[in-house]
Amino acid sequence: MTEELTKKAAEMLLQGATLLSEPCPYCAGVRVMKEGQALCISCGKQPEKKEISVENQPNEASSIEKTFEKKLESLSKELEQEKDHEKQQNILKTINTLLETIEKMKGKQ
Ligand SMILES: [Zn+2]
Repeated sequence: MTEELTKKAAEMLLQGATLLSEPCPYCAGVRVMKEGQALCISCGKQPEKKEISVENQPNEASSIEKTFEKKLESLSKELEQEKDHEKQQNILKTINTLLETIEKMKGKQ
């Protein structure tokens, strides 16, 4: 048990974490659990939630991206047909915001 891990476990317990009755699958050590995340006090591994979220995130991001891209397509068609200058400006603003969001999401990956 390293000092750093003990400290972290103590902090987690102070923040409302609970001790897990099931031992660590890697070293059979004691684990503390907070917000669905289990931390082993002996080896420091956090197997539970991490793996699941890493697997799910890319799929989610790409489907959101697709939604944005579809929206972008329909917006550019709208812009083509729009004669009102003010409405054109509004559509352009929305397109800009969408593009910025897509860029941000791509930068994260
Ligand atoms: Zn362990």
